[in-house]
Amino acid sequence: MRSWKIVEHGPPSVLRVVEGPEAAPGPGQVLLRIDAVGLNHLDLWVRRGVSGHRFPLPLVPGSDIAATIERVGSSVEGWRPGDEVLLAPASGCGDCASCLGGADHLCARYEILGETTDGGCRERMVAPAASLMRRPPHLSAEEAASIPLSLLTAWHMIVDRARLRSGETVLVQAAGSGVGVMVFQIARRMGVRVLATAGNAEKAKKARRLGADEVILYRETDFLDEVRRLTNRRGVDVVIEHVGAETWDRSMRALVKGGRLVICGATSGPHVTLDLRRLFFKGLSLLGSTMGSRSEMDEALRHVEPGESPPSWIASSGWRISRMPTPISRGDRRSGRSS
Ligand SMILES: [Zn+2]
Repeated sequence: MRSWKIVEHGPPSVLRVVEGPEAAPGPGQVLLRIDAVGLNHLDLWVRRGVSGHRFPLPLVPGSDIAATIERVGSSVEGWRPGDEVLLAPASGCGDCASCLGGADHLCARYEILGETTDGGCRERMVAPAASLMRRPPHLSAEEAASIPLSLLTAWHMIVDRARLRSGETVLVQAAGSGVGVMVFQIARRMGVRVLATAGNAEKAKKARRLGADEVILYRETDFLDEVRRLTNRRGVDVVIEHVGAETWDRSMRALVKGGRLVICGATSGPHVTLDLRRLFFKGLSLLGSTMGSRSEMDEALRHVEPGESPPSWIASSGWRISRMPTPISRGDRRSGRSS
């Protein structure tokens, strides 16, 4: 059984194909044949290394996995060989207070495939049946593998952290990213006005097609000036951030009184300055976000339905997110109902 492994941090050449023994599923586990793996920016962080952070190398990358069940271990119910599945990209321990309270993404022993434990860039793998999700039947393996991690991240930012509401305006930084692609679709279907920033005309076109109402080319114009112009100087209710140092100050200034900034990454650098007077006088909220709970993953996936066919730019244009329930209350999400 062959795997791709990151054996040390560095350029793509640090990836090695490694031959290993065939694995067998134990109780509560399944053996999967991997059909497709989606790659995320996370895979680049893991391969390059992050200063001050230790990854458990050697490591198989790949958090987003579409697979077919080959064998089923004992005491697995509801799954059969031949079933086409997606894997939840992360899981908690299952019995701490966070996990039992439905917030497994806050578990101290949270495992992310391809980051803290081996991911999917291999021919076969054994996985717990509890991590399996039905693959939406209208999607190819490649399309399905483009979904889980970025959909979960975007869903958690918008629904759980920002509590975005119909009638509000959101600014999404970096339209070309996986998270951006998801945010447009979720926010648009919640009845929210979406402003987005993009680095070039092609990304702007894609963003518009996926649901952004206004796209700001941030290399040609100052995005803060444009946000003010497009909102009649009011500003936006929510900013979805993952750029970090480069955009932080202007993202804060783009918020209305009572606005919320949700951040899930810092690609341009993690250190920023903060004018505390702006924070308290305007009653702003700063919300950190990473991944999301398993119940959010299941609910978000139920909103994925057929989109454009054939895919014209990346696999993720082969599907779209269906109309969202608005508003979504915490109680409804916890009980697993979607409307
Ligand atoms: Zn736990």
